[in-house]
Amino acid sequence: MAERRLQVTSRLGLHARAAANLVRVASKFESSLTLQRLDGGAEADAKSILSILTLAASRGTDLKIIAHGIDEQQALDAIVGLFSRDFDETEKYDVEQPSPATQELRCKGLGVSDGIVLGRVLRLQEGTRGVYRAVIAEADLERERHRFRVAVRLSRRQLEAIKARAEKELGRGHAYIFDAHLLFLEDAKLTRDVEDYIVRERANAEWAAKVVGDRLLSIYTQINDDYLRERGSDIEDVIQRLLANLTGEGPKYPNLSEDSVIVSPDLLPSTVAELNLKHVKAIATDAGGWTSHMAIIARGLGLTAVVGLRDFYQRTRTGDQILVDARRGEVILHPTASTIEQYQATAESAGPSLREDKTVESGPVETQDGVLISLRANVELPTEFQAVRDFGACGVGLFRSEFLLSRPGLMSSEEQQYGAYKALVDVAGEHGAIVRLFDVGGEVGSELKERERNPALGLRAVRFSLRNKAAMRTQVRAILRASAVGPLSLVIPMVADVADVRRAKQVITEEVAHLAAEQKQFSEVQIGAMIEVPSAVLTAETIAKEVDFFELGTNDLVQYTLAVDRGNDKVSYWFRTLHPAVLYGINRTLLAAREANIPVIVCGEMASTPAYAVLLIGLGAIDLSMTPAMIPRVRTVVSRINADEAREVALKCLQAATADDVEDLVRNEFRTRWPELFPLNTLPKPPQIS
Ligand code: PEP
Ligand code: MG
Repeated sequence: MAERRLQVTSRLGLHARAAANLVRVASKFESSLTLQRLDGGAEADAKSILSILTLAASRGTDLKIIAHGIDEQQALDAIVGLFSRDFDETEKYDVEQPSPATQELRCKGLGVSDGIVLGRVLRLQEGTRGVYRAVIAEADLERERHRFRVAVRLSRRQLEAIKARAEKELGRGHAYIFDAHLLFLEDAKLTRDVEDYIVRERANAEWAAKVVGDRLLSIYTQINDDYLRERGSDIEDVIQRLLANLTGEGPKYPNLSEDSVIVSPDLLPSTVAELNLKHVKAIATDAGGWTSHMAIIARGLGLTAVVGLRDFYQRTRTGDQILVDARRGEVILHPTASTIEQYQATAESAGPSLREDKTVESGPVETQDGVLISLRANVELPTEFQAVRDFGACGVGLFRSEFLLSRPGLMSSEEQQYGAYKALVDVAGEHGAIVRLFDVGGEVGSELKERERNPALGLRAVRFSLRNKAAMRTQVRAILRASAVGPLSLVIPMVADVADVRRAKQVITEEVAHLAAEQKQFSEVQIGAMIEVPSAVLTAETIAKEVDFFELGTNDLVQYTLAVDRGNDKVSYWFRTLHPAVLYGINRTLLAAREANIPVIVCGEMASTPAYAVLLIGLGAIDLSMTPAMIPRVRTVVSRINADEAREVALKCLQAATADDVEDLVRNEFRTRWPELFPLNTLPKPPQIS
């Protein structure tokens, strides 16, 4: 055995191309070659590029190289020579310069939750299918390894072709990175680990590649050197390519380090739902609006989120430092030290975030003039169940059950759903819970079916259920059975008219009969209709006669009344919750329900915005359902207002001509009547047409 001491003297440290040169030299020798950091003892195999890169050896790092084998002396000489020649990097290529984009960059978007977070960018391009775990039979393990090797070969061919093209079109200096990609791909640290994982865990190749890839990436994102850490995105690229070749699909799902900020053009709600919250600190997306499902879930999870950032994604790289300020709706890429300091001071003086601002007050809240208002919780994920209690909700006003389907293409079984609804009943307590039949389609669960040209107007919600009766029956049975355990109701989403209600009720009645014939334990449930499309508003009187309650989905009501895509930032200016047409719709629905003597629960995001909640009370709503974390704020505001006064303002708003007029009216009236509750900056800001 022989060893020598070395120091990294090249400006960029032992980065991808230098490491690739080192691997090339080391691989010529038979001896084993180990690099060791002198400061912490971290070790790397000098024949493995991934291993070398995880040393994170920047300029000035002291190392030891240990050789063991018949040609150990020659190997040491060659490697010491390579170090002294700065890894033979005589040419300086543009691509190797530290990124010029390290200047602070501020982008304005829309803050859809609370909080200020400092973290590291993790780029995530959606449109990818998740990678799922399958258990492989013993007899098929060899076939699975073979599949993986085929994917490696295919990836190699693709990379060689890309490299050749890059060399031709951009020159050698720009193509080098694909050499590193090719080395990653052949690195035993990756390939051997994946194959070992397949056999040891009896896992499918996709899952094994994802797990091993994520491990490598997480080591990378923790590297304490900006330039080297950025190279993590190269590994990410290779893993993505492998997975794409294995699944025959597009991109996929990445690693997460401690302080990840997910930056994406857009995110599926199911992706947000699946994020590991121990690691993800915030999200920043180019698309999205206040009521997009992704934003709703982010709020529910207490995740700091800014959406509608337009072309921000393309300006970032995985590993970049980023500040996400959801309070101001702003993100800052590469924040300077003074910006960070400033923000830290603001965060401290701004007091606790909504998430920390918990209260145990529960039960209905009373306005100053004695009107009782129920504040219920909207939930979608089992992880949010605890919040129902934490924030003192009067049960669950809306369970968005489609999040049980977050695995694309997978309907959960009756037993799985029964388990989920039972857990829901438990957490909801005496006030009960309302389960919405799958609102699949639109932006949710779009992978369950072929993409439609116009999904929001397509086979969505009750239409989907009526076209997929087997899935609907499974869900209805699970709900009926769980309601034997405690108070549970069912609501039918997006009914166009009473015909949709009748069709859905027919299926429910049939399942009641089936369960009775099977002598299963179940209980009949109250059945409600979501009023969220204009045709349902216009025929609310008829619908009210055939259901037990209404739920007013103001998110979709705004979308469909104003013909504005709720998730499209380009038209966010036209998404006006306080548009007079929306207020007429709400008013009419409330009146129809009152006449039929049935309750109305307002469960769109409007209910969770304190100023809007007051207006809803003014229109006559007494049952509001919202993101659990918003309950304490709404409770405080409602307890300090007078419902009669709210009514006066609401009546004036119904006379206004435009959304601008209503907003002006609300701002002026609220500031005058309740200055301590609604100082200027707590009222919703008018959107900008930009
Ligand atoms: C709504 O449309 O307001 C609603 C509550 O349902 P979702 O946001 O899930 O469409
Ligand atoms: Mg809706």
